[in-house]
Parts: sequence; structure tokens; C-alpha cells
Amino acid sequence: MKKIIKTLIIAMIVVLAITALAACNNDQPTTPTEPTAPACDHMWTAATCETAKTCVLCQATEGEPKGHDIVVDEAVAVTCTEDGLTAGEHCTRCDYAIAQETITAPGHTEVVDEAVDPTCVATGLTAGKHCSACDEVLVSQSEVAMVAHKIAYVTTLPTAEAAGKTTGVCTVCEGTFTYDEVNVMGAGTYTLEASALSGIAQYSLADGEVRVVGGVFECHLSNKYRTDDGQKKTFPDEYYGTSRMNFGGKTEINSDANPDMIKNGIVFTTTEAATVTVWWVEGGDDHRQVALYDMDGNIVVQSDNQEAAKNDPCMSTFTVEAGTYIVGNVINTNYIFKVEVVVGTSAEVPAE
Ligand SMILES: [Zn+2]
Ligand SMILES: [Zn+2]
Ligand SMILES: [Zn+2]
Ligand SMILES: [Zn+2]
Repeated sequence: MKKIIKTLIIAMIVVLAITALAACNNDQPTTPTEPTAPACDHMWTAATCETAKTCVLCQATEGEPKGHDIVVDEAVAVTCTEDGLTAGEHCTRCDYAIAQETITAPGHTEVVDEAVDPTCVATGLTAGKHCSACDEVLVSQSEVAMVAHKIAYVTTLPTAEAAGKTTGVCTVCEGTFTYDEVNVMGAGTYTLEASALSGIAQYSLADGEVRVVGGVFECHLSNKYRTDDGQKKTFPDEYYGTSRMNFGGKTEINSDANPDMIKNGIVFTTTEAATVTVWWVEGGDDHRQVALYDMDGNIVVQSDNQEAAKNDPCMSTFTVEAGTYIVGNVINTNYIFKVEVVVGTSAEVPAE
């Protein structure tokens, strides 16, 4: 019995020793197992532009941020008068943006367009303004009408043998001007009525320009001259005028201002003594008179209608020797409706 117990004890020691040995071998390192956390019952928030889908409990993420949904805000070009914008962009989902900045309109850059003086061959322009940046016209230029030629005239008087005529050359453009021939008045009756010059508008002629009526009356007109058609007037002799020569000024014959010009006068040449009658109307209240001048500009004979008032109808009759005369206005413009020249023996013969 004792021997059995002894054997058991030894066996136990052996077992223990083996067990202890085995325990020693277990000290060799083995992969340590993480402490297993309790599984999270994730509560996901949706992904945003800049963050992925994220668990609010454990901060775990899943997937990628969405990235911004960019919309480009186009630049707006600045003009002289309208503000512009720089280019920008923004996200349709979040507050992300590159803001557009205002570019303030600078206003126009004014440039003066100089006036251009008109000449006798070209129209002019008024001064204007435009913008050098955008070319917008700020003050438009308008056309200025051409001005009349400035003509120096040479008048050759008619003789019994040869016709006369007036020619002219413009001192600015050198244009030449010739007018109809004129003849002397032999015995007979010669009549000029304003209607023969019908249709001449003011400012359509140069100073001193000539219109010949009936081959014998050489009318030297002016830039201010016009024929007033339809201006009716009854005269003391019952003559009923319907058109008048409106001279626009007094008569000038080779004046200091215009040395080579007859202006506002009607030239005629008679071969015999003549009776000259002028049907005229006062152009003003300053007792303007009509007269016959010689070619040197001297008054040969003058009307005596000293009391005539503006628009008074007047008839003035002059008797002169053979020669060249100019019917004209002494003080200022008058309105001449008719001129009649009765030359020589024919003076006794009624006009046809
Ligand atoms: Zn979680
Ligand atoms: Zn965004
Ligand atoms: Zn501009
Ligand atoms: Zn000219």
C-alpha cells in the first residue's frame, strides 16, 4: 500500500513537471488579440461637399466627400457707362464661392471733334464730341451749309456796236462765272418785272451775281437777295404787282468792302435820253429812297418820297440823258416791283 501511494506521488510530480514545462513553452510570444470593442451601431450623416459620410457616434467615415458642384459666374465686361463684374464661381449646395467684384464704370473719355468751316465748295461741320474708348457720339456734328463764293467781277458795258457782259472769278476757289450778254437800249420801251426773277431764294446767290432780264437789264444781286413771289401791291397808277425784288441791302458800287462788285443794283445803258419809272415799296420806316447811280457809284438822281413809310407803294420817275445807270436803294433794302425805261422818241409810244 505504501508503495502504491509512493508511485502515485511520483506520477503526480511527473505530471506537474510536464505541465510546468508546457507552461514555460507558452511564454513564447503569440499575437495578442485586440480587445474586441463592442460593434458600433453607426448613425451616418450624409456626405457633404467637403466631408465623407461620417458616423456621429464613432466618427467612422465611408466613401469620399462629394466635392463642390461648381457653377461659374461669368465675368461681365465693364463699359464706359455700365459697371462690370469679375468672374466668380459658387457651389450649388454649400456656401463655397469666389465672389464676383464690381468693376466701376469709368465714364466716357471725351474727345472734341473740331468744327469745320464751310467753304464755297464744301460743307462744314459744327463741333462735336465722341468717346475715344467706345466711339459713342456724345455731341453729334451737324452739317453747315456751304457759303457763297466771293467773286470779283468785271463788267463790260454794252455799246451800240457790241453786247456787254459780266464775268467773275471766285477769289477763294477760283471758280469762274459768266452771265448773259446785255445790250444797249435803243429807242423804245423796256420793262423789268420782278416776276422775271421768280424763284430766287435768299442765300442762293453770291454777292454781286448777275441775272439778265430782257437782254437789257443786268441785275447785280446779293447773297441776301430773294424774289418775294406772291407779295401783291396796288400802285397809284393801278399797276398791280404780284412779285417783288427783295434786295437785302443798300446798293454798293465798287465799295471799299467789295471793290470789284456791283451789289443790289440794276444796270442798263441807253443810247438816248430816257424816262425811268420805278414801282417800289419802302423796305423800312427810315424813309429809304431809290436812286439812279452812275458807274462810279454817284447818285445821279434820287426819289423824293421823303414821307414814305414802310410798305408804302411808291412810283418814282426820273429823266436822264443817254448813258449807263444803276437803279438802286440809297439807305437800305427796298422792294422793287417794276422798272420801266422809255428811251428816245418811243417814249411817246405806249408800251405794248
Ligand atoms: Zn459609428
Ligand atoms: Zn459645395
Ligand atoms: Zn465711351
Ligand atoms: Zn468759290
